[in-house]
Amino acid sequence: MEAEIIAVGTELLLGDILNTNAQFLSRELASLGINVHFQSVVGDNPERLESVVNLARSRSDLLIFSGGLGPTQDDLTKQTVAHAFGDELRFDEEELEKIRGFFTAWGRTMPENNRRQAYVPVHGRKIENHNGTAPGMIFEDTRAPGKYAVLLPGPPYELQPMFLDTVRPWLASMTHSALHSETLRVMGVGESHLEEKIGHLLENENPTAALYAKTAEVVIRVTARAKTEDEAKAMCEEYAKKFYDILGDKIYARGDAPIEHTVVRVLKEAGATVAFAESCTGGLVAERLTNVPGASAVFGYGACTYANEIKEKMLGVRRETLEAHGAVSSETAAEMARGVRRVSGATFGVGVTGIAGPDGGTPEKPVGTVYVSLATATDTYVQKLVLTGRTRATVRQSSAQHALDLVRRAALGLPQPAARRFDPDGPAHWNDDNTALRDV
Ligand code: ATP
Repeated sequence: MEAEIIAVGTELLLGDILNTNAQFLSRELASLGINVHFQSVVGDNPERLESVVNLARSRSDLLIFSGGLGPTQDDLTKQTVAHAFGDELRFDEEELEKIRGFFTAWGRTMPENNRRQAYVPVHGRKIENHNGTAPGMIFEDTRAPGKYAVLLPGPPYELQPMFLDTVRPWLASMTHSALHSETLRVMGVGESHLEEKIGHLLENENPTAALYAKTAEVVIRVTARAKTEDEAKAMCEEYAKKFYDILGDKIYARGDAPIEHTVVRVLKEAGATVAFAESCTGGLVAERLTNVPGASAVFGYGACTYANEIKEKMLGVRRETLEAHGAVSSETAAEMARGVRRVSGATFGVGVTGIAGPDGGTPEKPVGTVYVSLATATDTYVQKLVLTGRTRATVRQSSAQHALDLVRRAALGLPQPAARRFDPDGPAHWNDDNTALRDV
C-alpha cells in the first residue's frame, strides 16, 4: 500500500506552525510497513486543494489529510475529497448533538457555523473525535475500491488519538503484517567509526538497521517485519544483541529518552550525586538534568562560572593555573571539577570550559575546543573535545552531552576511555593532542 500525506492549512505555508502532524503520521505509517511516497502542504484554497487531491488519488492508494475540517472553512476538505472519491455528505443529527454537547460542557452556545461539522460521508465512515468538535472520516473511492482517503482534524491532540484509536487498527488489519522498531542510543563513537565497526549489520534485509547521526550521539534504529507484533519484537531483540556484542557499554539506552534520563537513573541506582561547574555551557548541563522528573534525588548544586574571578572565588581554581594555561585548558577544567565537588559535597564534580564561538578561537585553541572534566573521591578525568565547524548552539549541546556521559560512566563504575586521568604532578600539557573524538 502506497500512502501520501496532505496537510491542509495556510498557517503551514506561511511558516507560522511546523508540520508535526506529517512527522507523526509518517512515523506511524512506517511502523505499519506502509510506504509514504509523498507529503504535501496546501493552503485553504479550493482549486489548489482539488488539484492536490486529484494528483494524489492518481498515484497513491491511501491519502491521509490533516486539517481543514474547521467550522470556518466552509467544509473545503470534506467537500473536495467527497467529490473526488465519488461520495456525498449527509447531515448527521447524532454528530450535531455531540458538537452541541462540547459547547454546553464549555458553558457556551454553539455558533451556527459549527453545524457544518455534522456532515459525514454517505458511503464512507466517520471517526469519533473525543477531544474536539470536528469528526474525522474515511472515504473509499466508489470508482476504484481499495483506494482510501482519511480526513483528520489539524490540532495534534485531536489527530493523534483518532489515528491511534481508530485509523491505526484499521490499517493494521488491512496490511496483515506488523512492524516493530527498537532504537539504540550510542555515545562516544563517531558516525564514520561506527559505520566501520557495524557496517556489515546495516545490510540485512529483515530486520533492517539504520544509523542516524544526532548531536554528539548516534542512534541505531532496528526494524523487523513479521506476521505478529510479538514475533517482530523478538526478531528486534535478537538483532539488537549483535550491536551490544560490538558496542557494549557505548550503548547508553534504548528508546527515545535523551542521556540525562539514563544519568539520573544510574546515579540513583548508585546512591550517588553530581554537581556541575559550567562555563561555556552556561547552565545547560544542569538544565538538561533538571528536565528529568526526580532529578532532585541526584542533583543539588550547579554553578555557572563564566568569569575567571568567579572560577577562582567560587571553585578555588588557582590564579596560576588560569594565568599559565588559560580558562580553556585541561588544568582549569580539572580544578573546576574538583572545586565544585568540594563545595557541593557531591559524589561527582563536573567541569565544562571551552570556546563555543563564533569568536574567541586561536590557532592553538580553535572555536569548538572544549574540556569536560569529572572529579571523583580519588581521581580527576579530563576529556578534550575538538568540535570544529559547529555552531555555538551545537558546541554547547555536544559539550553537555559528553559531560553527561562522563557522569553516566562514573556512576556505573565503567572506565573513561575518551578521557585521560589527570595527574596534577604530571607534565603540564599532557592531553592537548587528544583529538580522538574529532568525529563525534
Ligand atoms: P479545527 O477544527 O480546530 O478548526 P482543523 O481541522 O480545521 O481544526 P486547522 O484549522 O487547519 O485544523 O488547524 C487548527 C490548528 O491545528 C492549527 O492552528 C495548529 O495549531 C494545528 N495544526 C494544524 N495543522 C497542523 C499540522 N500539520 N501540524 C501540527 N499542527 C497543526
